[in-house]
Amino acid sequence: MEKSVFLPETQEKELESKIIVALERISEAFRVLLWNESKEFGLSPIQIQILIFINFHAEKLCKVSYLAEEFSLTKATISDSIKVLLQKNLIEKIVDEQDTRSYSIRLTQEGKTTSQKLSLFANTLKKPLNTLSEAHKKDLWNSLVVMIQSLQQANIISLQRMCLNCQNYQEEDNKHFCKLLGQELTQEALRIDCPEHQAIE
Ligand code: SF4
Repeated sequence: MEKSVFLPETQEKELESKIIVALERISEAFRVLLWNESKEFGLSPIQIQILIFINFHAEKLCKVSYLAEEFSLTKATISDSIKVLLQKNLIEKIVDEQDTRSYSIRLTQEGKTTSQKLSLFANTLKKPLNTLSEAHKKDLWNSLVVMIQSLQQANIISLQRMCLNCQNYQEEDNKHFCKLLGQELTQEALRIDCPEHQAIE
C-alpha cells in the first residue's frame, strides 16, 4: 500500500516526502500572512487576492470567469466577493458595450490605495530568500519551474501566464526563446506572470 508523505517514517526515508511537507509549511506562511491582512483590513483572503490581482493585471483579465479560473474557485464565489468589494467602494464595474451582461472590474481610488498596502503581504518571504546564494536561488527557481509545469500537466493547477504555455514560446536544443521579445530566455528569465502572454488556443 502506498504510504503517506506525512508519515514520519516515510519522511525519514524519502527526501521527496520531506520536501512536500516543507512546501506545505511554506503555503501555511502564505495563509497566515494573508489572514493577518484579512483581520487588519476587514476583508476575506479571496477579496484581498482579487484586489491585488486587478491592481497588477490588464482590464481584460479582470472578469468573473478569468478570476474563477485564476483562483480555482467557482464563478458564484468570485461574484459574491465582487459584490462585497463594490459595496465597500473598493472596485467599480465596467460594463461591456457589446454585451451588457458581461463586465470587468477595476479599482476605485480608495481600492488602489488599499491594494497597494495589501500587495506587500508576501514581502516578508524575501527575507529568508535573501540569505541564499545566487546559485542556490537559481537551483530553487529551476526546481519550482519543473514542479509547476508537472502539476499543470497533471491538471492540478492552471498555468495562465507562463512562458511554457505561451504561443510565443519556443524551445530549441534545450534553449528557451520568446518570439515576441525576439530573444533567448535564460532559465531565470522564464516568466510565470507575463503581461504579454498569449494563451495557446
Ligand atoms: S510573451 Fe511572455 S510568456 Fe510568452 S514567451 Fe514571451 S516572455 Fe514568455
